Amino acid sequence: MSNIEHSVSIVGAGISGIICALTLARSQTCKNWSINVYEQKSRVGGRAHTTFINDQFLDLGAGRFCSQIHVNVYELVKTLNLEYETFPFTQLKASQPIQKELKQLLDNLKPLIKEHRNESFSHFLSTYLGKNKALDVIMALGYDSLSLPIISPSIAYDIIEKHPETQGFSENIGYQWYNLKEGFSALTQALYEQALLLGVNFHFNQELVAIEHSFDSHNLILEDHKGLRQTLSEGYKIVTLPPSRMQQLDSEFPTRWTDYSYGSSPLFKGFFFYSEPWWQELGLTDHVVITRNPIRKLYFKDSKYVFFYTDGENALYWQDMFSQGEQHYLQAVRNFIADALNQSPESIPVAHSHTHKFWIHGVEFSKECCPEHPFYLTLGDDSVISLSDAYTHHCGWMEGGILAGRHTAQAIIAKQSTQHHTHEKEVAYI
Ligand SMILES: Cc1cc2nc3c(=O)[nH]c(=O)nc-3n(C[C@H](O)[C@H](O)[C@H](O)COP(=O)(O)OP(=O)(O)OC[C@H]3O[C@@H](n4cnc5c(N)ncnc54)[C@H](O)[C@@H]3O)c2cc1C
Repeated sequence: MSNIEHSVSIVGAGISGIICALTLARSQTCKNWSINVYEQKSRVGGRAHTTFINDQFLDLGAGRFCSQIHVNVYELVKTLNLEYETFPFTQLKASQPIQKELKQLLDNLKPLIKEHRNESFSHFLSTYLGKNKALDVIMALGYDSLSLPIISPSIAYDIIEKHPETQGFSENIGYQWYNLKEGFSALTQALYEQALLLGVNFHFNQELVAIEHSFDSHNLILEDHKGLRQTLSEGYKIVTLPPSRMQQLDSEFPTRWTDYSYGSSPLFKGFFFYSEPWWQELGLTDHVVITRNPIRKLYFKDSKYVFFYTDGENALYWQDMFSQGEQHYLQAVRNFIADALNQSPESIPVAHSHTHKFWIHGVEFSKECCPEHPFYLTLGDDSVISLSDAYTHHCGWMEGGILAGRHTAQAIIAKQSTQHHTHEKEVAYI
């Protein structure tokens, strides 16, 4: 006879899914449970994805954390003894005149945001600064999402305060940012190994293709890379996919689950290696330059490599450039780097190697973005639980994934303990 008391199926082996599995596996309540994680890819980590090129660990996805804001990430990194180093890109090389007065300007406008709750940030800026200066401000901040109609002034201020490149324009100017020496995949890999030791089973190349209604419940339908299907109908069924993926699976997401609504933005990162660190003599080592051209944020990492990082329209722009041919893409990058630094394109050396990654739904968020958003959602009949970093006030960050995974697991443990006690009382009464 099996000792298994209960089963939990978790879909998705990103940080949310692994933390949820680990929290359950560590709890006394779930001691004899069968915990299974199903992942469509052949690796864990999701949008935390590190690659190793030219002797360097490169974070193609999540790349940095702040010890004051991402306290759970920081805590895990220390507990797991992962090596970390200062992420130096809080040091902006001012390249646009407005950047010199931007902190003062944003400080002055901040008390007024209360009166403009339902407006976009760009509209808010235009009201006080005029259209042209409003555009200059957004250009100087480097994140194109700030110009989206759904970004309110308070969300925009939150973005500015909580990103390393822009925190210098806010009161968070001294916050400390770090990256992992072996990349963010080292964190998800270490957590994965812990989960394995605690008996969690991982099943790779298993894609959730449908959430199917059957009698009074819902089942998860998984398909492997050979097209073989299996149905998960027992126990707790937890789906840790971001909202954009939920929408593809369930045409009624999010309305069947919640009144909140969700959005996402594409992201693109490009990395370039050169024979010589030519940026050193320009005094750019470990600095970031925010440009008005499609490169937007240009980083000079030590003497090792250069990378750029864009969101929104400009992420789509670079994906389109690359699809027109590698040489076309490389020439455009070189021209825009030169433009950003006020140099001639010929003076910028040709990169000897490069890599990039485009994420169609890189960052996902709740449009309402409020602290009251629950960490997880359930279908009306409670048979499936959905959780994501996007449901937390740390949406778009690994911190949100940790919070969502942990809170959901704790809610299940609490529910189970209540049921157990009720059951014990019933038995005693009989
Ligand atoms: C370019 C980029 C830069 C970022 N920078 C940072 C940063 O600097 N710092 C930071 O903290 N965060 C950053 N983030 C955000 C961070 O990566 C996410 O917040 C975090 O990865 C969310 O974890 P998750 O587990 O909720 O989702 P995911 O990481 O998306 O994991 C979901 C998992 O589910 C799997 N999956 C999806 N669909 C299915 C399916 N149908 N069936 C089975 N499995 C499925 C996926 O393969 C994936 O493994 C960045 C993200 C990107 C893309």
